[in-house]
Amino acid sequence: MTTEPIDLRSDTVTVPSDEMRKAMAAAEVGDDVYGEDPTVNRLQAELAERLGKEAGLFMASGTMSNQVALKTHTQPGDEVICHRWSHIFNFEGGAGPAMSGVGFNLVDGDYGVITAEQVEAVIRPDSIHYPTTALINLENTHNKAGGTIFPLGEIRNIRKVADHYGLPMHLDGARLFNAVVATGVEAHQWAEPFDSISTCLSKGLGAPVGSVLLGSKEFIEKALYVRKRFGGAMRQVGVLAAAGLFALENNIDRLADDHANAGRLAEGVNEIGGFSVDLNGVHTNIIMIDVTGTGMTEEAVRDRLAERGVLLNTFGRGFLRAVTHLNVSADEIEKALEVFARIAESG
Ligand SMILES: *Cc1c(COP(=O)(O)O)cnc(C)c1O
Repeated sequence: MTTEPIDLRSDTVTVPSDEMRKAMAAAEVGDDVYGEDPTVNRLQAELAERLGKEAGLFMASGTMSNQVALKTHTQPGDEVICHRWSHIFNFEGGAGPAMSGVGFNLVDGDYGVITAEQVEAVIRPDSIHYPTTALINLENTHNKAGGTIFPLGEIRNIRKVADHYGLPMHLDGARLFNAVVATGVEAHQWAEPFDSISTCLSKGLGAPVGSVLLGSKEFIEKALYVRKRFGGAMRQVGVLAAAGLFALENNIDRLADDHANAGRLAEGVNEIGGFSVDLNGVHTNIIMIDVTGTGMTEEAVRDRLAERGVLLNTFGRGFLRAVTHLNVSADEIEKALEVFARIAESG
């Protein structure tokens, strides 16, 4: 008997449910380049309302959404302040320098958090010698830091610095709804300090494709030109937006299950010899597992887990990353823990 692997590599591996597919098949569509796709328009309006912004723009991916925002906020030669581990710097194929000609001013901080003092310290003086600081980018929840939540108080402190220096702020909110569900702080409260926000429908929310960029009407009007240039103006894309609307309606509250599963997995793995998890860093659906105590490389541990039907990604520095999502059940988490225990025993 072959069983499906327990796939904890990412919440992007989620597949659309039958119900979601039905919603996609039934979507009313039109040519979105003419602004005539009613389902896209509904999704954009729905997210704009939830996040308390004037307008939204559907995007093919989170990378496109972040990069359109970068291009809209900056000029070539400008600099963007962000955490050293941020997605926009590490995982977008060098798009910032390639597409917008920007550099990054990298700040270190625990759990993906940077402080207002740190931000202020790296803002460039107004002088011909320096690049121009043009944007502050934060990430919530923080992917590489392990799904951690950026404290709202610190975001507001950074906003004060941004206001003092006249800088816009962008939020990479690929997993913003995980932060919403984990804290009970509403999406519009998280979004309020930011000029633009990118949020993904294709992660834990379970849509096959799609991100939405939110901001003021004026910002989104500029972003529309940039999206076209980046090849992201699409046609009857309501079939995809319908999946996003279905996800917003049905798959937000259930993120709590993913968080509970991640908590259980983190505690269980942490008790198994050779594995260690910083439980203070487990806030949502991502856990970072330090495997150096096994005496094996992260690749070797990944391969042994995979042979026994548990899939994780390597994440550098001796870490594996596990991500819980709607296609992983509590029972499967228990099964995954048994596999970890067997590997600890047998190597
Ligand atoms: C996944 C992700 C993105 C966007 O990724 P795409 O694969 O391009 O959709 C952006 N930021 C963060 C933090 C992410 O985790």
